[in-house]
Amino acid sequence: MTQIAISITPIFVADLLVAEDARMPVYVHVIDHPDGRVLVDTGLTELHPAAADMDPRIKPLHTQEDFDVDSIDIVVNTHLHFDHCGGNHLFAGKPIYVQRRELEDARTEDDYTIREWVDPPGVEYLPVDGEHELLPGLRLVPAPGHTQGMQVVVVETGGRPVVVGGDVAVWFGELDEPESEGQLRVRALEPERVWLTHEREAWRPGHG
Ligand SMILES: [Zn+2]
Repeated sequence: MTQIAISITPIFVADLLVAEDARMPVYVHVIDHPDGRVLVDTGLTELHPAAADMDPRIKPLHTQEDFDVDSIDIVVNTHLHFDHCGGNHLFAGKPIYVQRRELEDARTEDDYTIREWVDPPGVEYLPVDGEHELLPGLRLVPAPGHTQGMQVVVVETGGRPVVVGGDVAVWFGELDEPESEGQLRVRALEPERVWLTHEREAWRPGHG
């Protein structure tokens, strides 16, 4: 069996105030695959009154010296909360994959996200229903819990898979003791590592 070389790189794009003195990082993830470069989630690129209570400190993707927006071939949104889709406007004209359920909820539910960041000019989605093979060894898997339309990206490495999980777990404890359907599904994959949006390091089983 030939092993496909796939690498995953986290990029810090912001932090958010979540308690009096506590800030939570926001990462996006680049997956380099021989057939294309995939970006998972897009962070946020500007401030907005609706997010002011979280006092975002942002490092927008398009301002980062070592990141080239044009190098991205495919975008995946794990879900469409504002801290995951705020940079989608940078990728107008590129394929952006999201679960159909997530797209519907983001467009119709109140107080779900910052709606103009979901549908900026030129952005078109490829809505997915359930599992979808994006590239060889790279697949989208629904992982409901944090939102009903949440999905993760599963990367086959030849050994145990690596997962780019978005907010399937917001912190490690949610994967240590999984409860949601999505968390249980990710644990059932017996992943070697799970990258999360709001943690600096990847989660590993038995990390503690
Ligand atoms: Zn988030």
